[in-house]
Amino acid sequence: MTYKISKIASILGVKNVNLIESEISTLLIDSRRLSGSPSHTLFFALETKNNDGHAFIKELYSAGVRNFVVSKRLPEWENLPGSNFLHVKNTLRALQKLAAYHRSRFDIPVIGITGSNGKTIVKEWLYRLLQDNFNIVRSPRSYNSQVGVPLSVWELDDTTELGIFEAGISMPDEMGYLEPIIRPTIGILTKIGEAHQENFTSLQQKCMEKMTLFVNCNVVIYDEDNDLISRCADMMLLSQKAFSWSRKRSDAPLYISKIEIHEKKTTIHYSFLRFEHSVDIPFIDDASIENAIHCLAVLLFLGIHPEEISKRMMMLEPVAMRLDVRQGKNNCIIINDTYNSDVNSIKIALDFQNQRKMDRPMKKTVILSDILQTGIMPKSLYKRVAEMVEQSGVDKLIGIGHDISDNASAFKMEKQFFPSTEAFIKSGIWRNFDNELILVKGAREYHFEQITALIEERIHETVMEVDLDAVVHNFNFYKSKLSPGVKMICMVKANGYGAGAVEIAKTLQYHRCDYLAVAVTEEGLALRSSGISLPIIILNPEVNGFEELFSNDLEPEVYNFRILEAFIKEAESRGITHYPIHIKIDTGMHRLGFLPEEIPQLLGVLQSQKGLHVKSVFSHLAASESWIFDEFTNSQVETLKLASEEIEKGLGYSVYKHILNSAGIERFPDAQWDMVRLGIGLYGVSASGLKGLRNVCTLKTTILQIKNIPGHETVGYGRKEELNCDARIATIRIGYADGLDRKFGNRNGKVLINGKFAPIVGNVCMDLCMIDVTEIEANEGDTVVVFGETPSVIDLAESIGTIPYEILTSVSPRVKRIYIKE
Ligand SMILES: *Cc1c(COP(=O)(O)O)cnc(C)c1O
Repeated sequence: MTYKISKIASILGVKNVNLIESEISTLLIDSRRLSGSPSHTLFFALETKNNDGHAFIKELYSAGVRNFVVSKRLPEWENLPGSNFLHVKNTLRALQKLAAYHRSRFDIPVIGITGSNGKTIVKEWLYRLLQDNFNIVRSPRSYNSQVGVPLSVWELDDTTELGIFEAGISMPDEMGYLEPIIRPTIGILTKIGEAHQENFTSLQQKCMEKMTLFVNCNVVIYDEDNDLISRCADMMLLSQKAFSWSRKRSDAPLYISKIEIHEKKTTIHYSFLRFEHSVDIPFIDDASIENAIHCLAVLLFLGIHPEEISKRMMMLEPVAMRLDVRQGKNNCIIINDTYNSDVNSIKIALDFQNQRKMDRPMKKTVILSDILQTGIMPKSLYKRVAEMVEQSGVDKLIGIGHDISDNASAFKMEKQFFPSTEAFIKSGIWRNFDNELILVKGAREYHFEQITALIEERIHETVMEVDLDAVVHNFNFYKSKLSPGVKMICMVKANGYGAGAVEIAKTLQYHRCDYLAVAVTEEGLALRSSGISLPIIILNPEVNGFEELFSNDLEPEVYNFRILEAFIKEAESRGITHYPIHIKIDTGMHRLGFLPEEIPQLLGVLQSQKGLHVKSVFSHLAASESWIFDEFTNSQVETLKLASEEIEKGLGYSVYKHILNSAGIERFPDAQWDMVRLGIGLYGVSASGLKGLRNVCTLKTTILQIKNIPGHETVGYGRKEELNCDARIATIRIGYADGLDRKFGNRNGKVLINGKFAPIVGNVCMDLCMIDVTEIEANEGDTVVVFGETPSVIDLAESIGTIPYEILTSVSPRVKRIYIKE
């Protein structure tokens, strides 16, 4: 569906502008996501804590975008002929207003889902359960924010028969903006938990805020046995239109009379309109049962026959909500996207593939199935997909399914088509994949997991999962603590604190980090050869690595006269001038750096040369995390302040000043100056105990063997531990050569299995160790968490008297890193 730009101006209340008429079909809020036809795109320049969309308008103009919604006027836009600027007070509110207008044009049922957990699963399950009855538009992935909801609703068009949207909030008053955009006719409240509680005074306040979504609904579905939810529903007069369910009250609209949990499925007995029925679902956990009951209520309300409901519910599958990157055979990298295949999620996956460009030239391949149930005519659908794939620079497309094969001519790159997954597998062409970055994306019916299984390298079963979304969250979390204009240096030394420097750096570069820093030149070279173009500081450069420093634009820390003079000589002999360096001052850590009394001599040397240019002057705090030493920390801050002023004065130009590490950012906001250096906090650990970070690294392994050992026998090398009673002992595939410290042995450490802790028994071996699972439901092959959310690296560090830094950086290179992203 398209809108004339003049119509959009009038919807947004923008007056007195001379517009060049154009048709708008696409809304854009992130300049990196530009695709499709730029001339039909309307860009909203949003201002967030971390970014200002106005800064990207010139770049978008060069790419062909002509229509902008802005809240600023910049002189640099005066020379952009042919463009339309709609000036509004608040660009986010304008986006929301346009979406609300769009929504108001449709008189169709719309399901609005909110709650603390389960929103995306309920949305995806309802989509599965109802797709035979309706042509559905739903939120892509978990697009449920102030920005995500308007973009989701924009997808409604004349063919849509049902909308399913989720709404998430983290602050009071937010739901008031989302309600008119979704304007649900059917509301579902999934669950109220502690998530995002920090901005609310009470759970009740948050619950009532969420329920604002339902004020115009015809019916509201919720669990009335939950006292908080039922009380809030009463207070908001929603109970009159409740289609609530209960396990206690037999005259509830939907009475759940009995829940029977079997080995692999659950039978839910219910009574509806006085008739008794039951459904089976292929899950046994509480959360899935609850989510399924919400879905059951919706289906009953929509008049779907109980027998039909039973048939469909048994087909439910877990909702995979993420992309992962795996090592493939023949030097391939596989991006496995198990999320449902639809146009929006293809776009997101292609973006992700572009971000993951590797250190060497690789062919970009996409394996794509038919896209099912979109309600769009195949011809225009695949034309749109072909445009997206082409714009994204894909070299080779493999299409699987009849529809995509029929539309083969739309695709202009190297291509091959197969009627089915089996036909593709039989063809054997996958054996020829070589040095390719392969995106595998198929509708669930196509079972592309069979394809990934063939082309992926079998992984050693001890893996470290690195959550890239959590890295971005933590990055933005610290960024939000900075005053405007303060630059962020992210520390990716020691292979990104163990998480993998290249992947972390790619993610940070995409999210517009300003600077990176590593310890040694080799680390900087590895980043450069993987395509990292951000400025990089080398903290401990060596005199003999100058050639590579210069030729790769790596910026050295200079900490004494020996290195300074050698560096000047090298620069001058190559005719290099103004090469950026960073001067380290020793303000009390007594590791590297010039002492304050050496500054006059330092200035003498710097003034008599032209090869080097001082870009920054900095120092490192010795104890920023601990309040006992605050006086000392403040003296370090003061010393650097004086030293940098003296240097600036002597040099006659200004330099960046920085001193704060992660704990420093948390505790000394007045010393942010020009830059800060974020390290451990990026990886999810707050040295000062700050809340709000997300866990990044999870070290996992599996159980190889379990056996019963009689009391009084010993376990492991050196017969260190004698059992004091009969025990079930499991052997897991991780040892000190993987980075599991020997000090964790003999019950000093514990791992997590199926939600319970199991102590480590006896000495840790090189590749294995043993754990006590006497009290735990555990089987061979089960997953064991060594660290992650729980136990955290902080817990582990405490139990053996070290620091989280050592735990993270000790994970051996032989442990595969797997990168995940929602
Ligand atoms: C490692 C390092 C940092 C980061 O420290 P965190 O405590 O991990 O935040 C900052 N500056 C320098 C010089 C470092 O070596």
